[in-house]
Amino acid sequence: MERILVLTSGGDAPGMNAAIRAVVRTGIYRKAEVWACHNGYQGLVKKDIFKLEKEDVAGCIQRGGTILRSSRCELFHEKKERDKIKRFLKQKDINNLIIIGGDGSFRGAATFSNEGGPKSVGIPGTIDNDILGTEYTIGFDTARNTALKAIDNIRDTAFSNSKYFLIEVMGQRAGFLAVDVGIAGGAEFILTPEFPLTAEKLAKKILAPRRKKESLIIVVAEAGKPGRSVRIADKLRKLTPFDYRVCILGHIQRGGSPTVVDREIASRMGNLAVEAILAGESNCMTALKGGHLTLSPFPGEKAHYRKLETDKLLKLGTILAS
Ligand code: ADP
Repeated sequence: MERILVLTSGGDAPGMNAAIRAVVRTGIYRKAEVWACHNGYQGLVKKDIFKLEKEDVAGCIQRGGTILRSSRCELFHEKKERDKIKRFLKQKDINNLIIIGGDGSFRGAATFSNEGGPKSVGIPGTIDNDILGTEYTIGFDTARNTALKAIDNIRDTAFSNSKYFLIEVMGQRAGFLAVDVGIAGGAEFILTPEFPLTAEKLAKKILAPRRKKESLIIVVAEAGKPGRSVRIADKLRKLTPFDYRVCILGHIQRGGSPTVVDREIASRMGNLAVEAILAGESNCMTALKGGHLTLSPFPGEKAHYRKLETDKLLKLGTILAS
């Protein structure tokens, strides 16, 4: 009997529960035992693992976050600690590890498998959608819908009170979220980590002759500096004759009931991860490429993440809001 252990690690994302459910139910369907631990690699360090049955994942598909909880784990960086876990999992006859998380979690899994630990297959989950090797990561669609709803709400009050707004969305290294919600929310300007715009250049664009508008929305990706929109607004106040309001959406974007897209893709990815690992695959993740579900090698080094390749969409956003 094959034994699979599933965990969620790193930043949580809506849709992870659908992936857990799919792993458990596909695993049992395939006559494997499915085990789990809480809080990512921390659960393994604590050797606190438990077996899951089909009913344990009932009623979780519509919930945001992860029922297995998630965390970061410094100790898993230490080989000595990983060796202890390796011995423990061998004792328990667990040869398969499914990790739902981001590229950091996959780096940990790859290191562990390469040292003789269990086979590992990842399911990419992050609202940033920036994992190299897949066009989609679980949580992205829910986050962009949550952010869009917030932008729509702000637009109502911005218009009624003739206000200029900077709305900060997540997106540590990549601007996928900012671009999508910027275009869908009719933002006048979109700032992403890949195509940064100084406050001076942005001020020039704001002051350039254009159609008179009652309000203005600027979407700003946090770009690894949460709160940066406050500093940009300070500068804009000095460089232009307008006042600016700032709204930082923050962790609101990480929670909430997952959308159809997230539940569906997470379910398919969970199913594929089990099929793949039972077929002997390892050191790879489920991925969406050209709209098709497939497997892709773990993304590797830290510097390797997916980013916006062109500023075409940013320009489109500006044209459409002109
Ligand atoms: P994410 O998976 O969301 O990118 P992190 O980068 O914080 O999140 O990684 C999550 C966890 O994965 C870390 O806390 C650590 O336990 C483990 N991890 C990350 N990189 C490595 C590595 N190079 N070696 C061992 N474990 C790692």
